[in-house]
Amino acid sequence: MAEKLIVIGGTAAGLSAASRARKEKPDMEIQVFEKSGFVSYGACGLPYFVGGLIHDINDLVAINAESLKNRRNISAWIHHEVLLIDPEKKEVTVKNLDTDQVSIHSYDKLVIATGAVPVVPPIPGIHSDGVYYLRNMEDGIRLKAAAREHGRVCIIGGGAIGLEAAEELRNAGLSVSVYEQFPRLLPFLDNAFSQALEDTLIKHGINVHTGTQIAEILSENGKASGIRTAFGEIEPSDIILVSAGVKPAGALAEQAGLALGLKGGIIVDDEMRTSHKDIWACGDCVQMKNRITGKPAYVPLGTTANKQGRIAGGNVAGGHDTFKGILGSMVTKVFELFIAATGLSKEQAAGEGYDAISVSITKADRASYYPGGRDNHICLIVDKKTGRLLGAQGIGSESIAGRINVLATAITCGMTVEEINELDLVYAPPAAPVYDPILIAANQAMKKITE
Ligand code: FAD
Repeated sequence: MAEKLIVIGGTAAGLSAASRARKEKPDMEIQVFEKSGFVSYGACGLPYFVGGLIHDINDLVAINAESLKNRRNISAWIHHEVLLIDPEKKEVTVKNLDTDQVSIHSYDKLVIATGAVPVVPPIPGIHSDGVYYLRNMEDGIRLKAAAREHGRVCIIGGGAIGLEAAEELRNAGLSVSVYEQFPRLLPFLDNAFSQALEDTLIKHGINVHTGTQIAEILSENGKASGIRTAFGEIEPSDIILVSAGVKPAGALAEQAGLALGLKGGIIVDDEMRTSHKDIWACGDCVQMKNRITGKPAYVPLGTTANKQGRIAGGNVAGGHDTFKGILGSMVTKVFELFIAATGLSKEQAAGEGYDAISVSITKADRASYYPGGRDNHICLIVDKKTGRLLGAQGIGSESIAGRINVLATAITCGMTVEEINELDLVYAPPAAPVYDPILIAANQAMKKITE
């Protein structure tokens, strides 16, 4: 009889695992259970669907259940929630959410790719109608429908997703307020970069309240009607969007007795195997490893989920690929401002015991005489003792993403700022200045190290 793989969760990590396993083992029986109504969707596109840039939600779907069966011979069951894992009997209990029918399915190998769930802050009134999240397709559909009907939204949480949603809801014509409990937005960023981000939001008509906790979600007849801050200020609102971060969806793994780590993420080894020999896990539900410090980390991103899924799928099929860890490389866009970061922030580096210095530079992203150039602002975080690059952040034009990618590569290779300064980078007036902002930043860092 063919070996049977069951995958729990049918998006980035789960389907990467299923597809890779299929490639490696054409005769394996593969069954995917997904509790939502969609498989293989790009959650990263949800803010742009909500704002109207993307009209059809199905455009976010890379491959649907029917095509998965026809093209990859993978059976994907939507609206099917796995309720229980029995690792000893090698069985999962599954509920069909359309019919309430419960069935038991046996497996030889299991991949858990249940993703993350939104953090629900303990704010009185948080469970009222009119409180929204943006995690999956159904959330996106609900939020977009509400945004069409209403004019005011308060966003709780000034992280990347909250800010992307703020831009899109503003573009859709709503009055938008963002409340962030920390003193600045994206607090891992250099102070000046956070300020530039806040200025950009304000310039586009968004009300930004940093250092402000929400004390209560006000409601009328069970429906959210606004917020009250810890300072006692009241803002009426039709929609409350909670974007206060996510945590690993580890409940199933916990019930199955698997080892859990940071924030409840499933502990996996470098081959993505859990504490049980026939169970692998990947994506937002697992604890990750910081590539610089070697310590546990949790930065849930689509890039990581896809790679880990591929590795888990290959190893389920008998391989021994390893996942080396994360730098937490991210990029986002808020109106015209692109923001990217990789590696450790200065505070994190200091917390890890490095004698960390930081340098910030500003340089146009193309030759100064060539029309249309915009400034790139780059901040490098460097170990003063060795000159090794520990982190990099940048804001500016679209080109900042590529520059931070170069610096992520440099961190991965353990390069010093002296070595980065010697890189042979491209130049042409419409594309980059003769001394790239990366080289200018590395040069400044070299000077600061020897001060
Ligand atoms: P998920 O995508 O969460 O998928 C897990 C799936 O498992 C879900 O569909 C869930 O319904 C299903 N599931 C859970 N429990 C069960 C169960 N018991 N039974 C059956 N099914 C179950 N990342 C980036 O790198 N760049 C970006 O720009 C970016 N933007 C984002 C914007 C938004 C709005 C959001 C929400 C996320 C964004 N991310 C981004 C993060 C990225 O989407 C996630 O890291 C990625 O989706 C994680 O993939 P995953 O497969 O691990 O988990």
